[in-house]
Amino acid sequence: MGQHAAHILISVELRQPGCGFCNLNSMPTHKRLKLLLLLALILWALSAYAQQSARVPPADLIIQHAKVFTSDEKHPWAQSVAIYKGKIAAVGTDDEVSRRRGIGTKMIDAGGKVVLPGFTDCHIHFLSGGLGLQRVNLEGAKNVDDILARLQKYADAHQDTPWILGRGWNYAMFAPDTLPNKKPLDKLFPAWPVFLRGYDGHTSWANSKALALAGITKDTPNPPNGEIVRDPVTGEATGALKESASALVEKVIPKPDHVAKLNAYRAGMRFAVQTGITRVHSAGGDFEELATLDELRGEKQLWIRFSVAYLLQPPELRQEDLKAIEEAHQAFHDDWIDASTVKFLLDGVVESHTAAMLEPYADDPSKKGSLFWDPEKYKSAVSELDKRGFQIYTHAIGDYAVRTALDGYESALQKNKNKDRRNRVEHVETIDRADVPRFAKLNVIASMQPLHAYPDSDTLDVWAHNIGSDRASRAWVWKSIAQAGGEYVFGSDWPVVTLNPWQGIQTAVTRQTVDGKPKEGFVPLQRLSVPQAVQAYTLNAALAGHREKTEGSIEKGKWADLIVIDRNIFEIEPHTISKTKVVLTIVGGKIVYEADH
Ligand SMILES: [Zn+2]
Repeated sequence: MGQHAAHILISVELRQPGCGFCNLNSMPTHKRLKLLLLLALILWALSAYAQQSARVPPADLIIQHAKVFTSDEKHPWAQSVAIYKGKIAAVGTDDEVSRRRGIGTKMIDAGGKVVLPGFTDCHIHFLSGGLGLQRVNLEGAKNVDDILARLQKYADAHQDTPWILGRGWNYAMFAPDTLPNKKPLDKLFPAWPVFLRGYDGHTSWANSKALALAGITKDTPNPPNGEIVRDPVTGEATGALKESASALVEKVIPKPDHVAKLNAYRAGMRFAVQTGITRVHSAGGDFEELATLDELRGEKQLWIRFSVAYLLQPPELRQEDLKAIEEAHQAFHDDWIDASTVKFLLDGVVESHTAAMLEPYADDPSKKGSLFWDPEKYKSAVSELDKRGFQIYTHAIGDYAVRTALDGYESALQKNKNKDRRNRVEHVETIDRADVPRFAKLNVIASMQPLHAYPDSDTLDVWAHNIGSDRASRAWVWKSIAQAGGEYVFGSDWPVVTLNPWQGIQTAVTRQTVDGKPKEGFVPLQRLSVPQAVQAYTLNAALAGHREKTEGSIEKGKWADLIVIDRNIFEIEPHTISKTKVVLTIVGGKIVYEADH
């Protein structure tokens, strides 16, 4: 285009002196002056235009003929995007953006498809998810027989694996019981250790061989914040292990070596870019692997961006924690690998009665769940980290844990007066009415996982049943938090559920299962519009990661992290949004995924 303008300019200059068309010399003076002025003006305009063109180099890549949802409120829709040196160079109509076309510009015709900002998954356990891709997947199993069939199939294909490891069962699969038992595993695998994590990562299922290798007997005491579930008659371990009790078995499982971890990250990133995820906020399990991520970057195999939290263990913030957090932050605080966050775990989960509630559980009034941290020690650790500039994530599922997290943030705000820390409460599965407006008041972000609210039997018959209908009427109240002026963001908690965000969007929009149940919707007041759900994965997510200046929307100057999808999620029947396929993923201006046609 620069050449084109220069060409126009040259042709004007050639005509000017002799101008046969208007013959200047035969004109009256005032008319001649007028024409000369006009010509001067045209020349000035053209040269200014040419100069500007010369300064603006051609784009590396232009996507045209698209429906671009920018997530930028001022200009929500566009047709075309130009990318130069990894960043967005222009957004606008096809005509406007085509001015950035030049020699060497790669042109992509989107054919009317929707373009969105790349998605951020705001809560993930990436290494664990990546490793899980190589293990038995029990997601979607119908019952114990179905699980056993999957295990048998895996065992047949992996005869030399020392342990059978798997994940993804849910509590409803054991109906009418709500917890698994070692007996069916023992029948099939008497001499082969089997260890299967529940879908939420909070409860595990081990067979007798695995329990024996871990040295768990009748007399083994429960570890702090954990429970070895026992037979009420014999006192023997049943094979179900709650919370920290899982670690008793995990520590005897051979650890994945470095190569296995590199492969797990590669597999995880391939899965992420296929589903449109371009940044993740790791909420535990990846901090120890910052050097592994850096190694992948060195090999040009870091395809998505990582914000990684340090998982702080109770009972208190220790000097060695601070040292690890500060050192990691010094080493990693760029656009690809960033360690500026600390994660606390305040409670467990509702399904196993380990989420901390203000009032007893509805189905078992002897239980309330308890906090993993002493509230005062939690508060002082939060204040110290907040003072040092770290952003905090706190896992809080029960209403008592949510309140404790908000109390901690309130006290840090009073002490340190930093109003822009954007500390976060992770999960917020149920909440006391009084705490809903506190998110806005304290500038705290609710980081939620819409697929956890998927109203299948695990949610309705176990989760809602355990806490009772009143508290279940405040299940995943993202809309209420927003209506009170607060901010929410979305993630998956992969491998708890799939990292595929399209299922999350569909659930946030419908509050129903794929086949439209329950008919009236699960707490239907909390339904979001499609743009609202998209914002929770894009611009809001960037805000929650302090990256709204460089990511989260398709705006000039931001990183070119964007995706093209195969259907218009803003117009289709909402119960089909989960079928959305990503056809192209671009991170930092580079194509990192392209679907086969
Ligand atoms: Zn998590």
